[in-house]
Amino acid sequence: MTRATVAIVGRPNVGKSTLFNRIVGGRPAIVDDRPGVTRDRNFAKTEWGGRGFWLVDTGGWIPETDALSGAVRRQVEAAVGDADVVMFVVDTLAGVHPSDQEVAELLRRHQDRVVLVANKADELAEDISHHAFHELGLGTPCPVSASTGKGSGDLLDQVVALLPDRDDSPQEGVIDVAVVGRPNVGKSSIVNRLLG
Ligand code: GDP
Ligand code: MG
Repeated sequence: MTRATVAIVGRPNVGKSTLFNRIVGGRPAIVDDRPGVTRDRNFAKTEWGGRGFWLVDTGGWIPETDALSGAVRRQVEAAVGDADVVMFVVDTLAGVHPSDQEVAELLRRHQDRVVLVANKADELAEDISHHAFHELGLGTPCPVSASTGKGSGDLLDQVVALLPDRDDSPQEGVIDVAVVGRPNVGKSSIVNRLLG
């Protein structure tokens, strides 16, 4: 894949999918509702400031529970392995959660390509509680409200600044292929098989 990839990680319910939909701009996310296959593993092609990239919502690779399971760990590790930039989302209303600390631990040595996203900063400017996330040791938290869109422009500026220099202008001889069909006919399985 020549196009740069940005993954969204974080514990359940912090607003990863809301942020994904906000960035992608209301286009329907790609969701496979087949249990156990690729449920909720949403991805979309998007762009900001003239830079195109794939956005991946990792949530839903795993059952959404409160415990930081081995599955969350694998999800984060896979995201770090596959993505050029990782958006690590935390919940400003909830404050620093033990699972945030665990995810931060996994991301720390990749800090140069991690953006710490303090979501649910709905009262941005007046409310400064996102500063609490400095303690995760991943740099300055970027406050956003995925629900309202507040701060999302600044976030995307930061993200695209970290994208590798790579020519993602349309290449001759390279075509985009879409797999379509009604639910549960095996679209995701075909894509997964083709992509290995
Ligand atoms: P995910 O599990 O991390 O994908 O989280 P979701 O995107 O499903 O969101 C979890 C809950 O948080 C939902 O009820 C959302 O409406 C809510 N939520 C997401 N973003 C925001 C936000 O910016 N502000 C507030 N107040 N709620 C939000
Ligand atoms: Mg989700």
